[in-house]
Amino acid sequence: MTKLNETHDPSLQSWVETANDAASDFPIQNLPFGVFRRRDSGEAFRGGVAIGDQIVDLEAACAAQIFSGAARASAEAARSEALNALMGMGPAAAASLRLALSRALRRGAQEQAALSASLVAQDQAEYALPARIGDYTDFYVGVHHATAIGKMFRPDQPLTPNYKWVPIGYHGRASSVVVSGAPVVRPQGQTKGEGATPEFGPSKRLDYELELAFFIGAGNARGAPIAIGAAEDHLFGVGLFNDWSARDIQAWEYQPLGPFLAKNFASTVSPWIVTMEALAPFRAPFERPDGDPQPLAYLDSAANRASGALDIDLEILIQTQAMRASGAAPVVIARSNARQAAYWTPAQLVAHHTVGGCNLQPGDLFGSGTLSGAERAQAGSLLELAEGGKAPVALPGGETRSFLADGDTIIFRGWCQRAGARRIGFGACAGTIVAAR
Ligand code: MN
Repeated sequence: MTKLNETHDPSLQSWVETANDAASDFPIQNLPFGVFRRRDSGEAFRGGVAIGDQIVDLEAACAAQIFSGAARASAEAARSEALNALMGMGPAAAASLRLALSRALRRGAQEQAALSASLVAQDQAEYALPARIGDYTDFYVGVHHATAIGKMFRPDQPLTPNYKWVPIGYHGRASSVVVSGAPVVRPQGQTKGEGATPEFGPSKRLDYELELAFFIGAGNARGAPIAIGAAEDHLFGVGLFNDWSARDIQAWEYQPLGPFLAKNFASTVSPWIVTMEALAPFRAPFERPDGDPQPLAYLDSAANRASGALDIDLEILIQTQAMRASGAAPVVIARSNARQAAYWTPAQLVAHHTVGGCNLQPGDLFGSGTLSGAERAQAGSLLELAEGGKAPVALPGGETRSFLADGDTIIFRGWCQRAGARRIGFGACAGTIVAAR
């Protein structure tokens, strides 16, 4: 578990003045990593670090001789079109670069003159996936979501007997993970329909899933499990994640092997990865409700009990085509919190994923599972929020939604806020539904 250090000092201010705005997601205490280029420039994508409304171009900063020693090696590893090399160097490498950037971006830093020429405005940038994602695994840690969905599919037994013992997951599809802003084409597929034979056509029950993305840092050798005590050394950082889901396709296809085409058409990840180090002030105990079993030994550690969970506030916004046309801003339709929603911690997911000998690689992606709270207003999917169509969600302008319509934009936001720490945010994870082809 990362300890607090000088980079977390809430009193630090940056010479990038927008980073000092209390509402900024990217103060000097955050310094998340992403991959970007100037929009429509034809430039190569390369690594960058968000600060206020700017991006530190790591390629340009290297050329300007801003870094030395370990920080320089880390920055050079992050100059390419994906962050896998930096991720694979482990947490000390990212920490050295974070410390160097924190010092160089502080008010009064002697690097200001040289580094200010390496800034690119975020509103002039476009983003790529932060990593080449070799494998994507989707977990199911949202216990309130699992219970609510379980009630719809299996009223007699909402939570399967394994849920409180095994971190449930399945291997997802990496090729269709896209970065925030990429359009999402409505999938076609088989659904059960009303007749004797299944129907084929565009999904009529398209949904989002509010999740966190955990990016793997250093990998492990096949056959060599990562013990829970070392698990966080293999986690690079956290982003926002929308695991788009076609509920009608899912209902027909999911037995006996789980989701398939219902979820493999697209998943959207936010451009910025907030490092585990940046999240250090926002850790929380791993706790089980009274009467629930304690985890098996390989999923348990003192450090995990003390601070394995992440206290991250989350919200979901929608803007329909009609809202956009009338100039109406996106509206919040649900709010949740990762700590309250999650039954398992990120370290437990890493330990479980590898305990049978599976090798993780730098840049691999874990989806947390849908992070719904216990209340309806905390629903992480439309399926829960609109109760499967029984309680359509009312929107400004008189529209309602039970599932997503073409032209709908879904935006996730996330942030961490705690007394004694500077608030940090995750930026946005957005996608717009496009009509089926
Ligand atoms: Mn999911």
